[in-house]
Amino acid sequence: MKYLVDTHAHTIASTHAYSTVHDYIAVAKQKGLKLFAITDHGPDMADAPHFWHFVNLRVLPRIVDGVGILRGIEANIKNDSGEIDYFGDYLQELDIVLAGFHEPVFPPSDKQTHTQALINTIESGNVDIITHPGNPAYPIDITAVSAAAARCHVALEINNSSFEMSRKGSEANCVAIAKAVRDAGGLLVMGSDSHVAFSLGEFSQALAIIKEAEFPEERLLNRSPEALLAFLSKRGHKTLDDFAEL
Ligand SMILES: [Zn+2]
Ligand SMILES: [Zn+2]
Repeated sequence: MKYLVDTHAHTIASTHAYSTVHDYIAVAKQKGLKLFAITDHGPDMADAPHFWHFVNLRVLPRIVDGVGILRGIEANIKNDSGEIDYFGDYLQELDIVLAGFHEPVFPPSDKQTHTQALINTIESGNVDIITHPGNPAYPIDITAVSAAAARCHVALEINNSSFEMSRKGSEANCVAIAKAVRDAGGLLVMGSDSHVAFSLGEFSQALAIIKEAEFPEERLLNRSPEALLAFLSKRGHKTLDDFAEL
């Protein structure tokens, strides 16, 4: 496997996911992954963990058996002002903050509303990665969102599970997003969006999209642990030195 960094995984803290932190570490070791993020759904989502789940992620060790564990969240975008369901100083205490649209929190509206919501989320400075922006349930102005993301150094995600289990019909949007981010000079990241540990680090379909768009490797954050950690540290996350030995 070439890409040994995964930014998106859910644990049994959401009961519609089926693996523990231990399960993920075991699979990461078996596959040779170096770094992955625990990113359960933000508290406003049905079936999400309580706010305290995220505050207390600090009890997780940084590295277990050579595998780095990032403390993260997949927050919910709540409205077209780009507010999310996690806030204040707590955000900087996490290592990585993802946010995206989820139907129970932000019912699909129209293209202009989705676009405004994403741009405001990107400009808020609170979010490092926008998850599954290619979801066909939420049409967006891809050029405008990609330009805002590039300007604000926010990465857009190509979500591998969008081509398998969820968000049917994402392919064309994702190719368009990869091309627009390429042209805007922005950053992409691949996430497995695992809800069970077996799929951790699986990017085959996302990679096909990235190849089709001829997206440059040097702007793909999964290319190394150093690349992702440098990005997160530039975005203001302060406690990443512990991962130096990776
Ligand atoms: Zn999601
Ligand atoms: Zn997810």
